[in-house]
Amino acid sequence: MIQQKEVIILKIVIFEPHPDDLLMGAGQVIFDWIEQGNYIHIITVTDGRACYRKMEDDKTREALRMTEDEIARERLTEAKKAVDFLDLNPENLHLLKFPDAEAQDYVGNGIRKVVPIIRNTDRILIPSDHNLHEDHQATHDIAIGAAKALQLRNIEYWVYFVPQYGRFNKDSKDKLIIVKISEELRQKLAEWLQIYQSQKRIKNTWKLYTRYLKLTKEFIYGKYKYEDIGKFYNF
Ligand SMILES: [Zn+2]
Repeated sequence: MIQQKEVIILKIVIFEPHPDDLLMGAGQVIFDWIEQGNYIHIITVTDGRACYRKMEDDKTREALRMTEDEIARERLTEAKKAVDFLDLNPENLHLLKFPDAEAQDYVGNGIRKVVPIIRNTDRILIPSDHNLHEDHQATHDIAIGAAKALQLRNIEYWVYFVPQYGRFNKDSKDKLIIVKISEELRQKLAEWLQIYQSQKRIKNTWKLYTRYLKLTKEFIYGKYKYEDIGKFYNF
């Protein structure tokens, strides 16, 4: 933590399992955090290559023609474009490039890679525990594993859900932070969504994202402490 006059500048590390979760997970708070002058780092865990698997009826012809290597390349480029859109330092984007849909096999490796990045952090933002998506769960496990390895007792742990993968349990009710979405923010998020053209080739996903960003009034985060780890359904 660096104190300059009255302003406290934080180092914040945000975890995204796939290149696009940053928007759905952190989109509601990241602009405020940037405006406050904080140092923001992004960790993108997987390469997103599996996004057209099991989407037989839903993907466009263009998607059908692409190899998974091409998809991964495009999605990692989209992660970089998002960092550019947010005007963050490109060096603060950490691409772990684990194979999409297999992140559970890379938790130990992930912890080793993440430890040096979160060493001096003040706040991390991570997917919830008990997550329906196994890569999102693996991302949670990597972040918590690294935090435990470093015994980060004095940092803030913020938790998010990408809407389709679960919700906060009642036991977290005193931990929740509700962020209202202003019209100005809604427009920025809609503009940001356009970066993820790879997702436009999955018709229902794109519909879901567009609708969500158009209609959601608020987003909910959970804010926890080190000693809360393992004591809550979501943390
Ligand atoms: Zn995801």
